[in-house]
This record gives sequence, C-alpha cells and structure tokens, in this order.
Amino acid sequence: MDDEKGGRIRSFVAVELPAGQRAVLGRYLEACARCAPGYRWVPAENLHLTLRFLGHLESATLDRVREGLARIREPRFRIALGGLGSFGPRRAPRVLWMGLAEGCDECTHLAAQVEEACLAAGLEPDRPFAAHLTLARSQSRGTLPELPPPPRLEPWTVDAFTLFRSQLNQPRPEGGHSSRYLPLARFALS
Ligand code: ATP
Ligand code: MG
Repeated sequence: MDDEKGGRIRSFVAVELPAGQRAVLGRYLEACARCAPGYRWVPAENLHLTLRFLGHLESATLDRVREGLARIREPRFRIALGGLGSFGPRRAPRVLWMGLAEGCDECTHLAAQVEEACLAAGLEPDRPFAAHLTLARSQSRGTLPELPPPPRLEPWTVDAFTLFRSQLNQPRPEGGHSSRYLPLARFALS
C-alpha cells in the first residue's frame, strides 16, 4: 500500500464540506458517473478543497507541520462553490473540478499560511495554489460526454481546516476501491 512508505504518512490539508452540500453534490456526482463512466468520480465522503498536499512525511515532520498549523490565526470566511472547470485537453480533460464563486481570496490566503507552516517544518515549496474542488479524474483518455448541469449549492462559513491522512486504494463497501481520508486534527478559525 502506498499511504505508508517506510513508516511515512501520506497526508494533506483541506477544507471540508458541510454535510448538506456534500450530500447534494454527491447525488450530482452519481448522475455524472452514469453519464461519464470513463471518469473516476470522487465519492461524496471524500469531497474536499485541498489547501496543501503534503505527500509522505516522517511522523516527526508531520508533527512539526501540525504544530505550525495549530499556530495559524485566521478569521472564518464565507465560501460558495461555483461553476465546473477542468485541467487538461478541452474535449478530454484529465481533471474536472468546481471553482469558488465566493471565498477564493480567503482560501488562497489561508493556503499561504499553511504553506508557511510547511516551509517552517522543512518541506519543499509547493507549486502556486489554485483553489478548486476536484470532482473527477479521467481514467480512459476518452472524450467527456455532456454532463447534467451542476446543482446550486448554498454558501457556508468555513470555521476550520483539517489535516488528513490519506490511505490509497481502500476497498469500498459498495465495491471497487478508493482512497480513504482520516482526519488527524482540525484547526479552528477565529
Ligand atoms: P488517488 O490518487 O488514488 O486517486 P486521491 O487523489 O483521492 O487518491 P491522494 O492522492 O492521497 O488521494 O490525494 C489527496 C489530496 O491531495 C487530493 O485532493 C489530491 O488531489 C491532492 N493531491 C494528491 N497528489 C497531489 C500532488 N502531487 N500535488 C497536489 N495535490 C495533490
Ligand atoms: Mg491522488
């Protein structure tokens, strides 16, 4: 398994979705999966906004990151998901995502604080942050069929961010495999 390499822990920092938005978006993604089975659609319970992918860290490094994250002092902010976007070729995107209609600057600012904590803990600098909520990844290289229109999701207040451990390729109760995310710590915004 890939989440533990020589005792190192695969982890990332993210903003979680409230249960309501998660459920609505999860139903939409199920409909998308029926339309576009050539894509691996994120299960509802895995939906999140990545602030920083940490990769495989030694537990001592992960502890330093966690301590740095605990020192972040930022206010809560409102966030609203927006339209669909993609990375990769237009007709056959590699990644489908949902952008932010509100809270993008605040998210970027929070990600910069997280990045600072990571650098202070000794991690290599990350590539520039671009806020997005990943919905699906291509697994076929085929063209993307037309998708149903995305649901309108209520804005919400982000009052915390989360350090997750990621366990890749875990069996799912309904069959198949996907990554499983375990919250290691939650950090409140003021
Ligand atoms: P899988 O890779 O099996 O699809 P996953 O992507 O759900 O599983 P991880 O690869 O552990 O699980 O990723 C956790 C989070 O970190 C996801 O939001 C993912 O998009 C992001 N991420 C993963 N790898 C990178 C990377 N190299 N750079 C930036 N973000 C990444
Ligand atoms: Mg991945």
